[in-house]
Amino acid sequence: MSTVSDKVTFATPVPGGLLDASVWGGKVYTGGEWRSSASTLRVREPATGETLGVVGESQPTDLPAIVEHAQRVQAKWALKPAEERAALMRHAARVFEDARPALLDAIQRETGGVRGKAEVELGGSIDELYHAAALLIQPEGQILPSSNPERLSLARRVPLGVVGVIAPWNFPLLLAMRSVAPAIALGNAVILKPDPQTPIVGGAIIARAFEEAGLPAGLFNLINGGAAVGEALVEARGVRMITFTGSTAVGRRVGELAGKHIKRVALELGGKSPFIVLDDADLEAAAAAGAWGSFLHQGQICMASGRHIVLRKVADEYAEILARKARALPVGDPFREHVAIGPLINEKQLARVDKIVQDSVAGGAQLLAGGTHKGPYYNPTVLYHVTPSMPAYELEIFGPVAPIVVAEDEEDAIRIANDTDYGLSGAVQTGSLERGLRVARQIRSGLVHINDQTIHDFAGIPFGGRGTSGNGSRFGSVSNVDEFTEWQWMTVGGKPTPYPF
Ligand code: NAD
Repeated sequence: MSTVSDKVTFATPVPGGLLDASVWGGKVYTGGEWRSSASTLRVREPATGETLGVVGESQPTDLPAIVEHAQRVQAKWALKPAEERAALMRHAARVFEDARPALLDAIQRETGGVRGKAEVELGGSIDELYHAAALLIQPEGQILPSSNPERLSLARRVPLGVVGVIAPWNFPLLLAMRSVAPAIALGNAVILKPDPQTPIVGGAIIARAFEEAGLPAGLFNLINGGAAVGEALVEARGVRMITFTGSTAVGRRVGELAGKHIKRVALELGGKSPFIVLDDADLEAAAAAGAWGSFLHQGQICMASGRHIVLRKVADEYAEILARKARALPVGDPFREHVAIGPLINEKQLARVDKIVQDSVAGGAQLLAGGTHKGPYYNPTVLYHVTPSMPAYELEIFGPVAPIVVAEDEEDAIRIANDTDYGLSGAVQTGSLERGLRVARQIRSGLVHINDQTIHDFAGIPFGGRGTSGNGSRFGSVSNVDEFTEWQWMTVGGKPTPYPF
């Protein structure tokens, strides 16, 4: 266990800026205040093991008071004019924009990602705030046909109350912000629990930005911890909705607890997204897209291309090009060197990735590239002739590994693409738009792309998965209104309705 005085290594944080640990070091943010806690969590840089900071650790018993305060503040916030709420979201976006270079460094170091990944994450998070503000120019309901001409009948969208947000470590800022921003803009209060490996860029800076923007105290709360605190948040009385982004295994548990307490739950879970290469595709372009889809951020992305399904006629050539690309990708510390592939998040994940690769090779897969690692860096790996009996076929790997499965024809490719319980993303590479459409339409996924790869997201789309990739929730665009508000039927009359009783 570390103490607050541990050295903080973010490059010269601006005093009072979002990354100034003298504000948030060793603390959690609840009820509008930074509060010291009995225990702390050390935040480690995946590339070097250095301490980036120390944050306060929450206890399950902290929740009732946080929820009670949040409920009181939320009731007032929901009555604020939409433009006032929107202005606050835009203000928070500007706070992030003003701190851009330091935040990019911090995202890179805490998540172990390349600069471009940090740019996408920060830019996407700022977009989420502006999109949340823009939601507030939408109509808030409908005028319904009335059974009584003397009375007006309305359906209005009303906030849920207090929303709990549980986020993972791979894109900690963005995957928190895509729930936090629309939930607050639409009149809710939020309690965020980031992953304990990324609580600074996934939590502290969000609290600081809202604090700078002048959000009412207690409307946004940050708690830190692992499974125990997460479960307490799901079970806390007064928390009306949980949004969870993470593994399917934990999502099942969260869904179970939410069901028990009759709460709305949005689950955004894992994936094994198919990347189909038809025999008329431009193979060089397809392999470039496929390499991006499997190796970006070391494959630690829910939408990563999990199976390269290639028609037999072009499979050998495609595999060779992909392996050549994999071998050419520079690997190292992305904050200090110009590389494409950084470290895996932790040793447990490294060991898991390696076991999937080695077991698949032992089961008959051909290793065309990678399969080795140095320290936390797993080399981009290409496995050829992967079949259903191998773990690389079935499991979400969450590492820089491209399993290639050979398909006999289009129909076989579609069958293999859907031979999984997951259903997050998908992609088809082909020289024919007609074939692309025919195949893409038959992939069972929440997202699908023709002549592209599987990793795409943007605040303006309905993001979400099918099957065990999610429970049908969708984040982004106007689906945020469906997720973070509920209908209330209201009737209005100028005079009391007469009754015979
Ligand atoms: P994880 O499920 O282990 O952890 C996610 C979050 O849940 C963390 O904050 C963690 O502390 C918390 N948690 C753990 N146990 C809990 C419990 N019992 N109750 C409540 N909260 C608990 O996931 P991970 O390994 O950090 O993230 C990787 C997974 O996330 C992958 O499967 C990936 O595909 C998925 N993911 C999905 C999306 C999406 O949008 N569909 C996006 C990113 C990541």
